[in-house]
Amino acid sequence: MSGRGARRRLVLLGGGHAQLAVLAWLARARPAGVEAVLVTPQPRQVYSGMLPGWLAGHYTEAQCVIALAPLAQAAGVMLRRAAAVGLDADARQVRLDDGGTLGYDWLSVNTGPAQDATRWGVAPLRPIEGWLVRTRQRLAEAPPRRVVVVGGGAAGFELALAWRHRLGPAAGVTLVSGRSGLLANYPEGVRRLGRQALAARAVTLIETRAVSGGPHGVVLADRTEVAADEVVLATGSVAPSWLDGCGLQRAPDGGLATGPTLQSVSHPEVFAAGDVASRLERPLPHSGVYAVRAGVALAAGLRAALAGAPAPLWHPPQHTLNLLSLGDRDAIASWGPLALQGPWIWRWKDRIDRGFMRRHGTPACAQR
Ligand SMILES: Cc1cc2nc3c(=O)[nH]c(=O)nc-3n(C[C@H](O)[C@H](O)[C@H](O)COP(=O)(O)OP(=O)(O)OC[C@H]3O[C@@H](n4cnc5c(N)ncnc54)[C@H](O)[C@@H]3O)c2cc1C
Repeated sequence: MSGRGARRRLVLLGGGHAQLAVLAWLARARPAGVEAVLVTPQPRQVYSGMLPGWLAGHYTEAQCVIALAPLAQAAGVMLRRAAAVGLDADARQVRLDDGGTLGYDWLSVNTGPAQDATRWGVAPLRPIEGWLVRTRQRLAEAPPRRVVVVGGGAAGFELALAWRHRLGPAAGVTLVSGRSGLLANYPEGVRRLGRQALAARAVTLIETRAVSGGPHGVVLADRTEVAADEVVLATGSVAPSWLDGCGLQRAPDGGLATGPTLQSVSHPEVFAAGDVASRLERPLPHSGVYAVRAGVALAAGLRAALAGAPAPLWHPPQHTLNLLSLGDRDAIASWGPLALQGPWIWRWKDRIDRGFMRRHGTPACAQR
């Protein structure tokens, strides 16, 4: 107990993809005797699945964000505008950047990953909120003429193609994919379609590593320089530094180590989902798709914990459907070994994304 009489406190740390399902469950169930607090640095959650579509010009900003305050209010959850800067798992306390601390009986962590930008003289893509605001300003003031995107994963691939569509054929767009190559976590069929899509849209693909960079371009591993007036750092994610010294067991990749119930393997009162967590017995790719899928399991685990019951096991699907947009209204679908491409896949993705946003109260997505 944390000194709140009979009421026990559930702290929702971060309003990421999985936490949305927890808020929806709390709104339905309103469990008695529980005081719930959502800690979030921003009053909104940017939906990364639609971010390339925003950059390409298909969506307004309002269509790509989920307002967290109305969801918290509907769930009877207090909203605290702050970010976690530390955690003492043994004392069950979160340290916040507003100087305060917050005790908990249960903690649900969904803060997403961080990005290591130490070698770079450019701001990273994460936090996505900051990137969105900077890019909006850039587009309004002086759209770039030469863009380099660093990172050959889904985010870098989609953003390079979105820049191409946004800026038109006169702009130079280069994607530096890193040593592991383009879309390294995808099957060969998707990689082949991905390479063809870049070539067809005149995006230069450099399949080597960029070692440093700044506002004027990047330097490749062989010391070649690629000039640019906009560099997007879509390099892989790392565990956030607020986890350092927290006392929770960490996975080999630095993530918060969880088991099949999404509970911390060292502290069962802590649940975690999304890119901040790493399942020990079955590592999952860090992706928005898995973060969304984990949401229902996270809510079920918390419901059981609050009732004093064992949390159910989560069996993640073997394959997930991944839809990669190609800047224009075209997209690639990846499911298991299958790879398909066509405008109908873009329309399918558009329907899924808008449906997800509508379900979480983004009214702008109701309009076509
Ligand atoms: C451009 C782009 C395109 C992508 N496309 C795809 C795709 O097509 N398919 C796919 O599967 N994945 C995609 N991804 C990856 C996907 O975005 C991530 O895997 C996903 O965001 C992880 O979800 P999450 O809920 O764990 O974290 P997030 O979505 O990052 O949410 C974390 C939340 O926690 C908050 N937060 C952060 N730090 C703190 C803190 N210290 N204290 C409190 N709150 C905090 C943040 O403000 C945010 O609201 C893409 C990523 C990008 C950038």
